[in-house]
Amino acid sequence: MTTQATVWNAQACAEANESLAGASAAHIADWAVANFGKKLIVAASMQDTILPHLFSKRLTGVDVLFLETGYHFKETIETRDEAARRFPITIVDATAAKTVAEQDAEFGKDLFARDPNLCCFMRKVDPLARSLAGYDAWVTGARRVDAVTRSELPLVTWDEGHGLVKINPIAAWSDMDVEVYQVVNVLPRNPMVAQGYPSIGCEPCTNKVKPGEDPRSGRWSGQEKTECGIHE
Ligand code: SF4
Repeated sequence: MTTQATVWNAQACAEANESLAGASAAHIADWAVANFGKKLIVAASMQDTILPHLFSKRLTGVDVLFLETGYHFKETIETRDEAARRFPITIVDATAAKTVAEQDAEFGKDLFARDPNLCCFMRKVDPLARSLAGYDAWVTGARRVDAVTRSELPLVTWDEGHGLVKINPIAAWSDMDVEVYQVVNVLPRNPMVAQGYPSIGCEPCTNKVKPGEDPRSGRWSGQEKTECGIHE
């Protein structure tokens, strides 16, 4: 008997998104692994280690994409390394075409302070695009509560820019859901979160946030920029 493979496109993703409405993150992860297997890659900022844990339980050796910009807090790098020790995952470091030193030599030191969009393009957007080539789906930890711009974030969508399926299994999670999952599963923590950094990116572009403030207000503080461009 032959089965007809799904042709993934915007319509197929919209149908999947509808059928998964209200599903748990575990169910969505099961669905993702059943549909894409090793052709999926899980993006992790290492602000937490939820997705590497969730997917490694279902897909041993799952590829975990880390945007190694060269500007991370050392605690973030340590969290990545601890996740790699604790879970059966394969870390895929996505690096820029130029090292930070080469970028400094060509564009001047601290480009992030003068042109963060160009810096993010070279150190995040372009490496991500190159790293997604060859996969059929990517998984992100984006949540609707992250920002008003993400309030309608779907569970499954067609990523037109990269030409593959994008899955957001914890899109509907609250901050409490995140906390409970980490406590129940005794996950490695990025210590920066407890030190006042609820949204962690590159060190030069991430500031502390006061209790009650928008969690993402510490990212590119004082600039109009609110997103690095990888979720557009
Ligand atoms: Fe550069 Fe800042 Fe973007 Fe990191 S977050 S890539 S340092 S502009």
